[in-house]
Amino acid sequence: MKIKVSGLTKVYNNKQVLNIPKLEIEKGSLLGIIGPNGAGKSTLVKIIGGIETSTSGLVLFDGKPINSNLYQNMTMVFQKPYLLRGSVFYNIAYPLRIRKVEEEEISRRVEKILDEMDLVEIRNQKSWTLSGGEAQKVALARAIIFNPSLLILDEPTANIDPSSIAIMEKIIKKSNQENGTTVIIVTHNLQQANRICKDVGFMYRGELIEIGSKEKVIRNP
Ligand code: ADP
Ligand code: ADP
Repeated sequence: MKIKVSGLTKVYNNKQVLNIPKLEIEKGSLLGIIGPNGAGKSTLVKIIGGIETSTSGLVLFDGKPINSNLYQNMTMVFQKPYLLRGSVFYNIAYPLRIRKVEEEEISRRVEKILDEMDLVEIRNQKSWTLSGGEAQKVALARAIIFNPSLLILDEPTANIDPSSIAIMEKIIKKSNQENGTTVIIVTHNLQQANRICKDVGFMYRGELIEIGSKEKVIRNP
């Protein structure tokens, strides 16, 4: 989906931490958000994702304010994976179950993503027994299994092992390319932004200082 942000501000304890007069993210974008700690990256994506309120301003999705139908079509992955109590398979199948997808179709889609993300061997393992990298791969698989229109990732690969990172980056790109999912990824890692993003926005002290193609914005990754 296309996202249009205007006049967005956030004030915490009398301190303005976000000021984005205008930001448009086209459908099918793969946008990285970079910038130092405290720049407001998380605050921005949490407001777009609807889990944080803004102090002022407007966020439109395909021209409309958020509603429950749109909300069902977006998903977020955080630095810390949040999983349900249950197996890997149960966690990944869950978004399809609540959307009333047929069991046969659920099986087919979950099997495919288990294979793509190298999770086949741990499919029956309980979520609380997984390593950090395994848990985060499951969180990502669960996020993309229903082909969301918008996928927001906030530092998804911090503290994750390199082989899991490679698998996650591949599936994020694939989801963007094959399903046209709009992806916004907050990352500290300029090499990662360079590897997976098309466009990059650089934030500093609550403002979007620069946004454009990664080649233009990341001068020396
Ligand atoms: P950190 O938050 O640990 O400093 P970042 O990856 O956020 O690491 O950024 C590294 C540094 O590179 C930052 O201090 C930032 O000022 C600088 N930087 C990154 N991209 C740009 C850019 N497009 N324009 C100016 N400075 C940039
Ligand atoms: P980033 O993701 O770029 O590191 P954040 O969006 O997390 O930056 O934070 C931006 C600013 O807002 C920081 O100064 C941070 O301390 C402040 N902030 C974030 N969340 C809260 C909160 N819940 N209460 C008060 N201040 C907050």
